Amino acid sequence: MSLLTKLASLGAAGLMLLSVPLDTAAPQNDVDGTLFLVNRQWMVTESYEPSDLRQAEVPGSVRQMRDEAASALEEMFAACKEETGVTLISVSGYRAYVRQYNIYHRKLRSVKGNEAKAQEYVAPPGASEHQLGLAMDIGQRNKPHLNDKFADTPGGKWAQENCWRFGFILRYGKEWEEVTGYKYESWHFRYVGKEKAKEIHEANIPYETWMIGYRTKLLERLMSD
Ligand SMILES: [Zn+2]
Repeated sequence: MSLLTKLASLGAAGLMLLSVPLDTAAPQNDVDGTLFLVNRQWMVTESYEPSDLRQAEVPGSVRQMRDEAASALEEMFAACKEETGVTLISVSGYRAYVRQYNIYHRKLRSVKGNEAKAQEYVAPPGASEHQLGLAMDIGQRNKPHLNDKFADTPGGKWAQENCWRFGFILRYGKEWEEVTGYKYESWHFRYVGKEKAKEIHEANIPYETWMIGYRTKLLERLMSD
Protein backbone atom coordinates (compact mmCIF):
# COMPACT_ATOMS: atom_id res chain seq x y z
CA MET A 1 0.00 0.00 0.00
CA SER A 2 1.36 3.43 -0.86
CA LEU A 3 1.76 6.02 1.84
CA LEU A 4 -0.97 8.12 0.27
CA THR A 5 -3.35 5.18 0.24
CA LYS A 6 -2.53 4.51 3.86
CA LEU A 7 -3.17 8.13 4.76
CA ALA A 8 -6.42 8.11 2.86
CA SER A 9 -7.51 4.94 4.66
CA LEU A 10 -7.03 6.73 7.96
CA GLY A 11 -9.68 9.22 6.90
CA ALA A 12 -9.68 12.41 8.91
CA ALA A 13 -6.60 11.40 10.85
CA GLY A 14 -4.73 10.87 7.61
CA LEU A 15 -5.83 14.26 6.37
CA MET A 16 -4.53 15.79 9.55
CA LEU A 17 -1.14 14.20 9.05
CA LEU A 18 -1.03 15.34 5.46
CA SER A 19 -2.04 18.88 6.08
CA VAL A 20 0.41 20.01 8.73
CA PRO A 21 4.07 19.53 9.54
CA LEU A 22 4.47 16.34 11.53
CA ASP A 23 6.59 17.96 14.19
CA THR A 24 3.89 20.45 15.15
CA ALA A 25 1.20 20.18 17.76
CA ALA A 26 -1.54 20.63 15.30
CA PRO A 27 -5.24 20.37 14.73
CA GLN A 28 -7.01 17.60 13.05
CA ASN A 29 -8.81 18.85 10.06
CA ASP A 30 -11.54 16.58 11.21
CA VAL A 31 -14.15 19.31 11.44
CA ASP A 32 -17.03 16.91 11.92
CA GLY A 33 -15.32 15.06 14.75
CA THR A 34 -14.98 16.35 18.28
CA LEU A 35 -11.21 16.73 18.62
CA PHE A 36 -10.62 19.68 16.34
CA LEU A 37 -7.99 21.85 17.98
CA VAL A 38 -8.54 25.57 17.66
CA ASN A 39 -6.31 28.28 19.06
CA ARG A 40 -4.50 31.35 17.78
CA GLN A 41 -2.11 29.24 15.72
CA TRP A 42 -4.73 26.93 14.34
CA MET A 43 -7.68 28.97 13.31
CA VAL A 44 -10.95 27.88 11.86
CA THR A 45 -12.07 29.47 8.59
CA GLU A 46 -14.60 32.26 8.41
CA SER A 47 -17.03 30.03 6.56
CA TYR A 48 -16.98 27.13 9.02
CA GLU A 49 -20.33 26.49 10.59
CA PRO A 50 -21.27 23.14 12.18
CA SER A 51 -24.13 21.42 10.40
CA ASP A 52 -25.73 19.83 13.45
CA LEU A 53 -26.28 22.72 15.85
CA ARG A 54 -29.24 22.66 18.19
CA GLN A 55 -30.42 24.30 21.39
CA ALA A 56 -29.30 22.39 24.46
CA GLU A 57 -32.27 21.79 26.74
CA VAL A 58 -30.72 23.44 29.78
CA PRO A 59 -31.41 26.63 31.74
CA GLY A 60 -29.54 29.69 30.54
CA SER A 61 -28.84 31.65 27.40
CA VAL A 62 -26.96 31.11 24.12
CA ARG A 63 -27.63 27.40 24.38
CA GLN A 64 -26.66 26.29 20.88
CA MET A 65 -24.13 23.50 20.52
CA ARG A 66 -23.49 20.60 18.18
CA ASP A 67 -25.98 17.82 18.77
CA GLU A 68 -23.63 15.41 20.55
CA ALA A 69 -22.20 18.14 22.78
CA ALA A 70 -25.68 19.46 23.59
CA SER A 71 -26.77 16.00 24.77
CA ALA A 72 -23.65 15.72 26.91
CA LEU A 73 -24.31 19.13 28.43
CA GLU A 74 -27.88 18.18 29.29
CA GLU A 75 -26.62 15.02 30.97
CA MET A 76 -23.97 16.96 32.90
CA PHE A 77 -26.33 19.68 34.17
CA ALA A 78 -28.87 17.05 35.24
CA ALA A 79 -26.19 15.12 37.12
CA CYS A 80 -25.00 18.25 38.91
CA LYS A 81 -28.56 19.01 39.99
CA GLU A 82 -29.04 15.45 41.19
CA GLU A 83 -25.72 15.13 43.00
CA THR A 84 -25.45 18.59 44.55
CA GLY A 85 -28.83 20.27 44.15
CA VAL A 86 -27.10 23.09 42.26
CA THR A 87 -28.47 24.46 38.98
CA LEU A 88 -25.85 25.12 36.36
CA ILE A 89 -26.69 27.52 33.54
CA SER A 90 -25.38 27.95 30.04
CA VAL A 91 -23.91 31.40 29.47
CA SER A 92 -22.39 31.18 26.02
CA GLY A 93 -22.27 28.30 23.57
CA TYR A 94 -21.99 28.41 19.79
CA ARG A 95 -20.77 31.66 18.27
CA ALA A 96 -20.61 32.29 14.58
CA TYR A 97 -17.43 33.83 13.17
CA VAL A 98 -19.09 37.19 12.69
CA ARG A 99 -20.29 37.26 16.30
CA GLN A 100 -16.77 36.52 17.56
CA TYR A 101 -15.54 39.28 15.25
CA ASN A 102 -17.89 41.76 16.89
CA ILE A 103 -17.06 40.63 20.43
CA TYR A 104 -13.34 40.84 19.74
CA HIS A 105 -13.52 44.29 18.19
CA ARG A 106 -15.67 45.62 21.01
CA LYS A 107 -13.06 44.32 23.49
CA LEU A 108 -10.28 45.81 21.40
CA ARG A 109 -11.92 49.25 21.50
CA SER A 110 -12.35 48.98 25.26
CA VAL A 111 -8.60 48.49 25.73
CA LYS A 112 -7.72 51.25 23.27
CA GLY A 113 -6.50 48.92 20.53
CA ASN A 114 -4.06 46.92 22.71
CA GLU A 115 -4.28 43.51 20.99
CA ALA A 116 -2.32 41.58 23.61
CA LYS A 117 -4.59 42.90 26.32
CA ALA A 118 -7.74 42.15 24.33
CA GLN A 119 -6.58 38.62 23.61
CA GLU A 120 -5.98 37.73 27.23
CA TYR A 121 -9.62 36.77 27.40
CA VAL A 122 -11.20 37.19 24.01
CA ALA A 123 -10.13 35.10 21.06
CA PRO A 124 -9.80 36.82 17.72
CA PRO A 125 -12.35 35.62 15.15
CA GLY A 126 -11.41 32.15 13.88
CA ALA A 127 -9.46 31.34 17.05
CA SER A 128 -12.46 30.61 19.27
CA GLU A 129 -13.61 27.15 20.20
CA HIS A 130 -17.09 28.58 20.43
CA GLN A 131 -17.23 28.61 16.63
CA LEU A 132 -16.93 24.81 16.70
CA GLY A 133 -20.16 24.44 18.64
CA LEU A 134 -18.21 22.30 21.12
CA ALA A 135 -17.54 24.85 23.85
CA MET A 136 -19.79 26.17 26.59
CA ASP A 137 -19.22 28.90 29.13
CA ILE A 138 -20.96 27.66 32.25
CA GLY A 139 -22.28 29.49 35.27
CA GLN A 140 -24.25 28.71 38.39
CA ARG A 141 -27.72 30.14 38.74
CA ASN A 142 -27.82 33.36 40.79
CA LYS A 143 -24.03 33.50 41.11
CA PRO A 144 -21.52 35.74 39.35
CA HIS A 145 -20.21 34.14 36.23
CA LEU A 146 -17.57 34.50 33.53
CA ASN A 147 -15.02 35.40 36.15
CA ASP A 148 -12.79 33.49 38.55
CA LYS A 149 -15.48 33.50 41.23
CA PHE A 150 -17.21 30.69 39.39
CA ALA A 151 -14.41 28.34 40.48
CA ASP A 152 -15.40 28.93 44.11
CA THR A 153 -19.08 28.22 43.68
CA PRO A 154 -20.36 24.70 44.45
CA GLY A 155 -21.41 24.38 40.81
CA GLY A 156 -18.04 25.54 39.56
CA LYS A 157 -16.19 23.09 41.78
CA TRP A 158 -18.44 20.25 40.77
CA ALA A 159 -18.06 21.09 37.07
CA GLN A 160 -14.27 21.12 37.24
CA GLU A 161 -14.15 17.80 39.05
CA ASN A 162 -16.83 16.01 37.07
CA CYS A 163 -16.98 17.45 33.56
CA TRP A 164 -14.84 14.64 32.14
CA ARG A 165 -17.52 12.09 33.01
CA PHE A 166 -19.70 13.73 30.39
CA GLY A 167 -17.02 14.29 27.77
CA PHE A 168 -15.93 17.81 28.67
CA ILE A 169 -12.56 19.22 29.65
CA LEU A 170 -11.63 22.43 31.42
CA ARG A 171 -9.79 23.95 28.49
CA TYR A 172 -7.83 26.83 29.99
CA GLY A 173 -6.44 25.56 33.27
CA LYS A 174 -4.68 27.68 35.84
CA GLU A 175 -1.16 26.37 35.28
CA TRP A 176 -1.45 26.22 31.52
CA GLU A 177 -1.44 29.84 30.43
CA GLU A 178 1.91 29.54 28.66
CA VAL A 179 0.72 26.60 26.61
CA THR A 180 -2.85 27.56 25.81
CA GLY A 181 -2.15 31.26 25.40
CA TYR A 182 -5.21 32.06 27.50
CA LYS A 183 -5.63 33.13 31.07
CA TYR A 184 -7.31 30.71 33.43
CA GLU A 185 -10.98 30.40 32.54
CA SER A 186 -12.82 28.46 35.21
CA TRP A 187 -16.04 28.67 33.20
CA HIS A 188 -15.01 27.50 29.74
CA PHE A 189 -15.61 23.82 29.02
CA ARG A 190 -14.83 22.03 25.78
CA TYR A 191 -16.51 18.86 24.56
CA VAL A 192 -14.17 16.17 23.19
CA GLY A 193 -16.20 13.01 23.88
CA LYS A 194 -16.19 10.79 26.95
CA GLU A 195 -13.29 8.53 26.09
CA LYS A 196 -10.84 11.32 25.30
CA ALA A 197 -12.06 13.55 28.11
CA LYS A 198 -11.25 10.79 30.61
CA GLU A 199 -7.78 10.38 29.13
CA ILE A 200 -7.09 14.10 29.18
CA HIS A 201 -8.48 14.45 32.69
CA GLU A 202 -6.25 11.65 33.96
CA ALA A 203 -3.20 13.05 32.19
CA ASN A 204 -3.99 16.49 33.63
CA ILE A 205 -2.32 18.32 30.77
CA PRO A 206 -3.40 21.09 28.37
CA TYR A 207 -5.23 20.01 25.24
CA GLU A 208 -2.38 21.29 23.07
CA THR A 209 0.05 18.97 24.88
CA TRP A 210 -2.30 16.01 24.76
CA MET A 211 -2.71 16.53 21.02
CA ILE A 212 1.04 16.07 20.47
CA GLY A 213 0.83 12.60 22.04
CA TYR A 214 -2.32 11.77 20.13
CA ARG A 215 -0.73 12.72 16.84
CA THR A 216 2.39 10.73 17.65
CA LYS A 217 0.28 7.64 18.32
CA LEU A 218 -1.53 8.09 15.02
CA LEU A 219 1.76 8.36 13.24
CA GLU A 220 3.15 5.26 14.91
CA ARG A 221 0.05 3.31 13.96
CA LEU A 222 0.44 4.51 10.42
CA MET A 223 4.08 3.49 10.25
CA SER A 224 3.48 0.04 11.73
CA ASP A 225 0.76 -0.89 9.23
ZN1 LIG B 1 -15.62 30.37 26.44
